[in-house]
Amino acid sequence: MRDPQSITVNDDARLIPLWSILVAVVAFVFVEYYFWLVLPGQRHHAPPPLGFRIYFNLSWGLVAALYFLMVGYVSKDAPRRGMSSRFWMLICFVMPGGIGAVLYFLLRVPEISCCPACGTHVQSDFHFCPQCNYQLTASCGNCFRTVRSTDQFCTRCGHEISRDHMPARLRVLGE
Ligand SMILES: [Zn+2]
Ligand SMILES: [Zn+2]
Repeated sequence: MRDPQSITVNDDARLIPLWSILVAVVAFVFVEYYFWLVLPGQRHHAPPPLGFRIYFNLSWGLVAALYFLMVGYVSKDAPRRGMSSRFWMLICFVMPGGIGAVLYFLLRVPEISCCPACGTHVQSDFHFCPQCNYQLTASCGNCFRTVRSTDQFCTRCGHEISRDHMPARLRVLGE
């Protein structure tokens, strides 16, 4: 039996943890330090124009910082979707050029939340709870696409939604 407390559901706490912000700042400072102070000492030809160097050095610093913010974000976002945060942090960290992060956004599954009636974990794209048949989102009675609870007609098929037998909970929202 799964424990409902084992997954933090719809946790509004910040999605980028403090440690990754700190690491990102350190990475930025380190990159700036390297490019401004270490690298010029090793160069034997004339340095490129100052404007180019500012642009180039800041860009690399921001890329490095973004890299760690991304890993931090994945560490928080993956558990909300029932995905392994360790696995995806590793993928984001190891794959070069941010490919891991792109893969993550392509492959991540919808967020998990709880059925208000029975507490079963449900994905955000579910219309009905698989355990108790509770209607989780408003949907068209004709084509079963998700609709907003305030819509009068389905944007897909033009079906008049007010004719559907809506649960009282959703009908209250529509008025
Ligand atoms: Zn349910
Ligand atoms: Zn429809």
